[in-house]
Amino acid sequence: MKLLVTGGCGFIGSAVVRRAVAQGHAVVNLDAMTYAASPESVAEVADHPAYAFEKADIRDRPALDRILAAHVPDAILHLAAESHVDRSIDGPAAFVETNVTGTFNLLEAARRHWEGRGRPRDFRFHHVSTDEVFGSLGETGQFTEDTPYDPRSPYSATKAASDHLVRAWHGTYGLPVVLTNCSNNYGPYHFPEKLIPVVILKALQGAPIPVYGAGANVRDWLYVEDHADALLTVVQRGRIGRSYNIGGENEARNIDIVRRVCALLDERRPGNGPYAEQIAFVEDRPGHDARYAIDPSRIRDELGWRPSVTLEEGLARTVDWYLRNEAWWRTLLERRPALLERLGTFPA
Ligand code: NAD
Repeated sequence: MKLLVTGGCGFIGSAVVRRAVAQGHAVVNLDAMTYAASPESVAEVADHPAYAFEKADIRDRPALDRILAAHVPDAILHLAAESHVDRSIDGPAAFVETNVTGTFNLLEAARRHWEGRGRPRDFRFHHVSTDEVFGSLGETGQFTEDTPYDPRSPYSATKAASDHLVRAWHGTYGLPVVLTNCSNNYGPYHFPEKLIPVVILKALQGAPIPVYGAGANVRDWLYVEDHADALLTVVQRGRIGRSYNIGGENEARNIDIVRRVCALLDERRPGNGPYAEQIAFVEDRPGHDARYAIDPSRIRDELGWRPSVTLEEGLARTVDWYLRNEAWWRTLLERRPALLERLGTFPA
């Protein structure tokens, strides 16, 4: 297949790009290279003949038309987004512009492309979204694909809006779409401002490890390589017009994730620990959802996909990757002085 991947220099997009090229697909990576992008995350495929890169912004409609006409993809895997909940609380405008208007632009460009080619039935517009659109759960229950939408942060509200646009472009214009809503991803190349990298970096610095509230919020954790595998399964075999929830079958409280990462660091970098003593509870995020959990039965029963990596294994791989790839995160932080200031300095 020839795939146009948007946001392919981000955390999940780069995992999709690496895996798609390894599986023999041709990939065009369209990315605006915002603060969240890392060209190093796709370095291993950069010279591959099946890989092409287009620096473009999904807010720029003419650029999208030009790129689709030049590359003629069989499918679009749409991951480009503003993705960090805390940033959406501080500055929601960029989230509306990229996640809502950007997705609208891409849908319109995809529609023109698809109609211009005679509406091929095997074309796919695959929209990648989050379980956060479903709101917050109590102590029991799981999100299914039929759970009513109830987004509560600016981030999840813009993702919910984009999901509705994608469904409307299928219902109104017949565009062949598939959607996925997934849980919290973690793994190699995770951007340093997210929970698990922050724990690793703060622990290594000897600094307080911040945990929101009492750390009681529950999330399902999905290893990013498993997610990339699921996305490539859905884009090829998912039923048109359908959405699929993707989870890792790994529910855990944030505090337990933090303690497990500290324990892994105690084994790998003994001497400065126990790192759990650095945990510092901080004022909770406003509107912080209590619990997310995914019912993964549709993707399992229809497409035969299920996660392959346990939380224990995935966390160990992630910690090892971060310890081995110091050059990756150091370079990334040095290029982003504001982020470095927030995370503190890292002596060599
Ligand atoms: P990320 O922030 O790591 O990467 C986003 C990428 O999109 C970056 O490379 C960035 O440069 C690019 N981008 C941003 N705005 C753009 C624009 N206007 N035009 C073109 N490119 C632009 O995000 P991620 O964590 O890899 O998430 C990818 C997708 O998966 C997002 O749609 C997100 O909502 C969804 N998702 C993520 C998670 C998670 O745990 N990370 C969970 C559920 C859903």
